[in-house]
Amino acid sequence: MKESIFVICAHSDDQILGPGGTLAKYAKEGKEIFTIIFSYGETSHVWLKKKVSAEIRVKEAQNADKVIGGSGVVFFGLKEGKFFEEVKNKDIKDKVKKLLKEKKSSRIFTHVPDDVHEDHRAVYKIVNEILDEINYKGDLLGFDVWNAVNIRKRHLPKVYIDISSTFRIKLKALHCFKSQFLAMLPPYLGVYINAFMNGLKNDCKYAEKFYKIK
Ligand SMILES: [Zn+2]
Repeated sequence: MKESIFVICAHSDDQILGPGGTLAKYAKEGKEIFTIIFSYGETSHVWLKKKVSAEIRVKEAQNADKVIGGSGVVFFGLKEGKFFEEVKNKDIKDKVKKLLKEKKSSRIFTHVPDDVHEDHRAVYKIVNEILDEINYKGDLLGFDVWNAVNIRKRHLPKVYIDISSTFRIKLKALHCFKSQFLAMLPPYLGVYINAFMNGLKNDCKYAEKFYKIK
């Protein structure tokens, strides 16, 4: 069985904005990439009909998954701001546990504990609880989504992954979400600056930075 890598995140573009280049790199190396997304992220687009918006977001995430060479996206469709209640009511933990076991996950990416977005922090907490409950032996790496300049100091050890060979794929995957952004420049710019600055610290052209949580 192939080695499998999971990314568990709150919204349909987090997995690309955060670890997109790393996921594409792992896919190239022959690993299987599975994405779990807690919500559709529809409330951030008030001018779209809920249904239309959710459909578009699913389609965009699936397209982006194809671009990075992923093996599929699971949407739980939870309400934003209500993750803790919804996780209980919909047996989400059991679903995640089942997937991790079935696919023999060896590494998981999720949000960082002190993320500014409450849904990101909620996912972090829920993922941690799940991994404790199953006594998970693989590792857990945290990623930032938006902050171009990270001013917070974290005590967690940093892990840099060279994405020079897949940075273009990350940008291409990001482009799949063009309907979500009023303008494409801000996300591109943030992703570019981060990858460049992390590359400088890692002696390569482009890198993604993670925090080792487990
Ligand atoms: Zn998000």
